[in-house]
Amino acid sequence: MSNIAVCVRFRPLIARETPHRPDACCIHQFNNESFLFKEEKEGNLEFVFDRVFYEYSSQSDVFEFVAMPIVRDAMNAINGTIITYGQTGAGKTFSMEGPNMLMGDRDLKGILPRVSESIFKLIDNADATCEFIIKLSMVEIYMEKIRDLLDSRKDNLQVKEDKVRGIFIAGATEIYIQSEREMLQLLEAGVTSRAVGGTQMNSESSRSHCVSLITIQQSNTEDRSVKTGKLFLVDLAGSEKVEKTGVEGKLLNEAKTINKSLSALGNVINALTTEKSCHVPYRDSKLTRILQESLGGNSRTTLLCCCSPSSSNATETLSTLRFGTRAK
Ligand code: ADP
Ligand code: MG
Repeated sequence: MSNIAVCVRFRPLIARETPHRPDACCIHQFNNESFLFKEEKEGNLEFVFDRVFYEYSSQSDVFEFVAMPIVRDAMNAINGTIITYGQTGAGKTFSMEGPNMLMGDRDLKGILPRVSESIFKLIDNADATCEFIIKLSMVEIYMEKIRDLLDSRKDNLQVKEDKVRGIFIAGATEIYIQSEREMLQLLEAGVTSRAVGGTQMNSESSRSHCVSLITIQQSNTEDRSVKTGKLFLVDLAGSEKVEKTGVEGKLLNEAKTINKSLSALGNVINALTTEKSCHVPYRDSKLTRILQESLGGNSRTTLLCCCSPSSSNATETLSTLRFGTRAK
């Protein structure tokens, strides 16, 4: 069995997706693991995943299935990765963050704030002989450049490797976290910096990958053993194909770079889930290089493919579902 789970989440239809039309939605006969997807040219296609969430699925349902097992493992020094994939507007950030991590409706909180809450709950309930040190780093990858989201002066970080630390982002800010509240404040500051930085580069946050890394170090005060789990939470750049006509220069380069790094991710996951494959091409992108020690091996990964249910987005949705199918 592979340690990679692939889940799909359809968000509700939004106003501009013409909910009044009976053919507005392209999913049918759906249940927890499968559905029929109606596409104009290809007809009805059946898709099966580890779990499928629909418009009525709550943030809490998604968290419990997608993230909670990985958080538990990370507390036991098993590395984990949770990735949201999909076209812009499909619900990646809603799933990962929710509307706002510091304020607002508790029920709408996304994966990141729920992970923060559960880590500190698990620490409270842990054996008295266990001591935990929690650290947070946040970076964004834009045009294959790594920018620190916790310190905007650091805008071109490099990935390095050594015997002690393994693979790491040299110079990335790491902040020690004492409480859930502190974690939420930093996460919110980080994602805000992603959006602001994006505008300065004349681009949108949806054109960069946002990578949050929570490091959980556990020491046993009796036998003095120390073990570390790394938990990566990744909100990817939008996967939409840019129209070939009419786009040039910077936008075209941006689109090409995003496509390249998303296909590098797809190729790595594919190599990990294909039995005979021996070469895993981690070095093909900054993203896969950063995630190298938390994808494959003993680590656990969940890919959450976010989709619009609208027939107006059917082509992009189909491409997202095929990316997910290839990752199984
Ligand atoms: P992405 O990050 O993939 O570009 P967003 O997460 O920003 O997309 O979602 C686009 C819009 O749809 C936002 O207004 C968001 O609040 C809304 N949305 C996404 N998923 C859901 C959901 N499951 N329930 C309600 N609204 C959602
Ligand atoms: Mg987003």
